[in-house]
Amino acid sequence: MACSVIKCPLCEVTTMESCPFCAIVNKQLPAELIYEDEYCVAFKDIRPQAPVHVLVVPKVHVACADDVSDPQLWGRLMSAVKTVASQLGVAGAYRIVVNCGESAGQTVPHLHIHLLAGRGLQWPPG
Ligand code: 5GP
Ligand code: ZN
Repeated sequence: MACSVIKCPLCEVTTMESCPFCAIVNKQLPAELIYEDEYCVAFKDIRPQAPVHVLVVPKVHVACADDVSDPQLWGRLMSAVKTVASQLGVAGAYRIVVNCGESAGQTVPHLHIHLLAGRGLQWPPG
């Protein structure tokens, strides 16, 4: 599936086999895995922006939020977020962020939910 939002070299010239988060899902790229189920994996962000910074991603390659065709996927991802937050002891004290598109800050063209916690979080976000 090509990335329809970000014109990144990965998406333009290769298949999802070259997607870094697909590689993590397929255990071809190392990551600190926190959680895995039939639909999702969660792993620590390589450049954490908070003491707890986990990415929850679908196992299937979906480029961005706009490309979600099955709304049930959101339920599965959010269920994983809740489980991970509880597992990490931050239930009731976390922020979730989904950047959709380059201008919103999306840099990896595989849908992911940021789960941030463990410090004061300002509002509005930058
Ligand atoms: P975005 O900017 O697309 O919303 O978020 C992408 C996130 O993925 C960033 O916070 C970045 O630090 C993280 N990231 C990028 N590449 C890797 C990687 O190979 N491994 C892990 N664990 N995180 C990554
Ligand atoms: Zn992917």
